[in-house]
Order: sequence, then structure tokens, then C-alpha cells
Amino acid sequence: MKPRPFDYVRPDSIDEAVAILAERGDDARVLAGGQTLLAMLNLRVVEPAVLLDITRIPELGEIRDVDGKIEVGAAVTQNRLLAWPALGQKLPLLGAVLPFVGHFQTRNKGTVCGSIAHADPSSELPLALAVLGGEVVLASRKGMRVLPAAEFQQGLLTTARAADELITSVRFPVVAGGVAFREVARRHGDFAIVGVAALAESKNGIRLGVAGMAERPAVARIRGNGDVRQSIERLAWELEGYDDIHASARMRRDLLRRIGPVVAEEAARCAG
Ligand SMILES: Cc1cc2nc3c(=O)[nH]c(=O)nc-3n(C[C@H](O)[C@H](O)[C@H](O)COP(=O)(O)OP(=O)(O)OC[C@H]3O[C@@H](n4cnc5c(N)ncnc54)[C@H](O)[C@@H]3O)c2cc1C
Repeated sequence: MKPRPFDYVRPDSIDEAVAILAERGDDARVLAGGQTLLAMLNLRVVEPAVLLDITRIPELGEIRDVDGKIEVGAAVTQNRLLAWPALGQKLPLLGAVLPFVGHFQTRNKGTVCGSIAHADPSSELPLALAVLGGEVVLASRKGMRVLPAAEFQQGLLTTARAADELITSVRFPVVAGGVAFREVARRHGDFAIVGVAALAESKNGIRLGVAGMAERPAVARIRGNGDVRQSIERLAWELEGYDDIHASARMRRDLLRRIGPVVAEEAARCAG
């Protein structure tokens, strides 16, 4: 199928972009890497009257270290962040998850913010944002607001972004500790059936994040001195999982039970 006809605009500044969103609201769709949006257009899942291409807005193309947080602009592609020289030192969890986001070719176009905006519950980047306790920066003609990941991520393909808002960046805090990530997918580069990410902090135990078990990433805190396996067993029952064409809820719980402890232990080992 082919998309319905639409207008294409390519603003040069954030001000120009938010002015168009203020005027067109739900009729407009932001186009970032297009790796999800173009398929949705072709299938006519969405039928916007105007596509707002944000990839050439210079302010959105930056990766900046601001007050202990790494701010990734909305035009930064997944491969650009993966190639950022300080990634391993500042954001090792992103270094672990990014190679699992699609394929080299899709990462060349797909943006970090686009994945977070799309809010697929099996996606790796929203999971990393949730585990690290990151933030999403939104701009509209009314001004800016910054939402914590837990407030921004509301459910299946649903976020707190209003129709007139542009995500200008996401902020990942630089947190000391060990990290680990594993996922089970049908093939490398597919969305995760279940993905687990962990951040082990010496004082606060382990933050364990799970994708593919609920409508949005779930994050649980596990005390370092407690029984990790028992905590993950409880979490698997709490989250329940769900049935779809890829796996049953029971299989998802089993995957979490198997991968969860491995990831938690790996992160704790890395923390030293
Ligand atoms: C073959 C293939 C395999 C893939 N595998 C995976 C995978 O394993 N894991 C995974 O997570 N993803 C996967 N993806 C999706 C990929 O990661 C996309 O890059 C990502 O989901 C969307 O990013 P994008 O920049 O392409 O956004 P687009 O497709 O341009 O936009 C996606 C949605 O977000 C909105 N949006 C984008 N940017 C903004 C913004 N700044 N402000 C407001 N709204 C915005 C758009 O309007 C649209 O609704 C895969 C894609 C393909 C084609």
C-alpha cells in the first residue's frame, strides 16, 4: 500500500517546528528517522495531513554532557550515539542495549528520541531510559517541560506528549555502578520478546528493568543482600506478561525468571 498524500515541511529551527505543531496539532506528525513512521504511513495506520521533518534542525543534532546528565538531541541517530567516544564511560547501559535496536542500517536513520517517542513496550531504548531514571524534554509554543521517564511512559504506544509538543531531547543520568543487558528475540535485530536491563549501585542494590512483560517498561528495586531469584520470581508474577503471536504470558514469565538473575548477577559483578 501507499500512504495518503501529505504535505512535507522541513523547519530550520525548534521555534518554527513548534509553531507548525501549534497550528496543525493532531493533523501533523513529526518525522525523525522514519523507521517506524514510514511503515505506519504505508499501512495507513496513521494518515497525517503534514509531515514535519526535524532531522535538519541544528539544535537537535547534539549530544551534550550537562550537569551529570547526557542530553541526546531529537535528531541524533542510534548509530551516532553508539559511536560517541564517551559512551562506554558515561552511559555503559546504552552501549549494551544499542546493538540490539534493529540493524546497523535501521540505526543509521532511526533516532534515540524517535524510539522513546514511539513507546513500544518491547523496545530497548525506553527500557534503558526507565532503568537509569532519565527525562524527556518537550517543547511547545507555551514553553518547555521536562518529564521523568516514569511520567512520560504511559502505556502501549502511549506517552504524556501532547499533540502540540516536540520532544527536543532525552536526558540519561550518568550513574556509577555495574550494568548488564540481555534479551530474547526471534532473530537478532527483532524487537525483544523479553528484555532485561540492570544497574547495580553499591549502596542502593539493583535496579532491574523489564521490557516485553507489560504495556510499558517496568522497573523494580532489588536489595543487593536479598534473594535475587526470589525477588525476580515475585516480579514475574506481579507483571504477569501477556499473550501475543510471539509468546504466551507463561513463556514471558519463564524468560524473565531465567534471564533476570543472570542480568542482575552480571551487573553486580561489574559493580565490583
Ligand atoms: C527492520 C526493523 C527492525 C527494528 N527493530 C527494532 C528493535 O529491535 N528494537 C527497537 O526498539 N526498535 C526497532 N525498530 C524501530 C527503530 O528503532 C526506529 O528507529 C524507532 O522505533 C523510531 O525511531 P525513528 O527515529 O525512526 O522515528 P520515526 O519512525 O520517524 O517516528 C516514530 C514515531 O515517533 C514520533 N516522533 C519521532 N520523533 C519525535 C519527536 N522528536 N517528537 C515527537 N514525536 C516524535 C513520530 O511522529 C512517530 O509517531 C526496527 C525498525 C525496523 C525497520
